[in-house]
Amino acid sequence: MTASSDLIQALRAVDGSRIWVDAPMAPFTTIGTGGKAAVMVTVVDTPALVATLKILDGGASWFCLGAGTDLLVADEGYPGVVVKLDDSFHYVEGMPLEPDSVEGPVTVTVGAGTLLPRLAIVVGEAGLTGLEFACGIPGSVGGAIATNAGAYGSSMAEVVQEVELADGRGASWMRAADLTWSYRRCHLPAGAVITAVRLTLTPGDSAEVMKHHRSILQRRRRSHPQGVRTFGCAFMNPSGGGAGRLIDAAGLKGVRRGDAEISRVHANFLVNLGDATTADVLALMHLMRQEVKRANNVLLEPEVRLLGARFPWDSSSDASQGPPGIHE
Ligand SMILES: Cc1cc2nc3c(=O)[nH]c(=O)nc-3n(C[C@H](O)[C@H](O)[C@H](O)COP(=O)(O)OP(=O)(O)OC[C@H]3O[C@@H](n4cnc5c(N)ncnc54)[C@H](O)[C@@H]3O)c2cc1C
Repeated sequence: MTASSDLIQALRAVDGSRIWVDAPMAPFTTIGTGGKAAVMVTVVDTPALVATLKILDGGASWFCLGAGTDLLVADEGYPGVVVKLDDSFHYVEGMPLEPDSVEGPVTVTVGAGTLLPRLAIVVGEAGLTGLEFACGIPGSVGGAIATNAGAYGSSMAEVVQEVELADGRGASWMRAADLTWSYRRCHLPAGAVITAVRLTLTPGDSAEVMKHHRSILQRRRRSHPQGVRTFGCAFMNPSGGGAGRLIDAAGLKGVRRGDAEISRVHANFLVNLGDATTADVLALMHLMRQEVKRANNVLLEPEVRLLGARFPWDSSSDASQGPPGIHE
């Protein structure tokens, strides 16, 4: 991996940033595969982020990393800059002190680095409803918005009121209604990083909310592989059906390439059994896509983001667009 020494020097000079050259990416993803990023920059606050993005506006390729739960990094690595928000972006503000006395919707402000399941517990225990669907979705709040994460018929789009976005010129709030949301996607303005979000939640009964959490987590424990390295669903559900069901019907559960396996529990999950490579994972995704197309004439589209490479089936016309989240 290479990055120009001028770029590294400029990034290093930003107050409130830490630079890591040739940063191994596997530990920053839940699947645990892939090579190195040329540079990883961790920023401690929004001014440091804005200054970093201003430098990157000069033409460097960069990518904003959340908790890496929906990410696959090429074995060859990523020759650009990975931008990561520091722990100071983990916070929750605006929680009502006496939720029982609150009437009507409550606005809660959350740092983009906050982990979604933790947030779901914090608001649930305070008796706020609306985020129960998210209690089992790993990842950061910023990543959950960028991917419009969802489960059981609900998604982030339903609870987000406003998003704070930073780019090389500064940071400002944007109404969620002015963003374009779709299934597992939120189309952010080019070059924008989410730094915070305002959610609209509704006062309710904390015991009921936490009971709902337990039933969702039980359901997930029954249907998802547990304690394994994975990025969750490999493919988005096509209209009218579950991708997992189609992959299962194609007889692919348990199929392996190297140390990567199509989960025996949920066929849309890929699992790293130990020393899987990204090439192993991509070979399985290619097979899943081919077999489902052959059996059902359905073309599955990836849910996971791929950094530093193209999906093996990407034609040259698709390839020109680049995967979501990479800024050239
Ligand atoms: C076991 C398991 C179960 C899962 N179950 C679900 C599920 O039920 N439903 C679901 O929707 N997903 C699920 N996922 C996928 C994943 O957890 C979500 O998509 C999650 O919201 C991604 O967040 P992240 O912080 O990990 O993002 P990352 O994987 O780090 O990045 C994903 C995308 O978000 C962008 N991004 C991250 N942070 C920011 C930011 N601050 N500003 C701008 N862009 C940003 C990245 O650039 C990238 O394009 C699951 C994953 C696992 C491992």
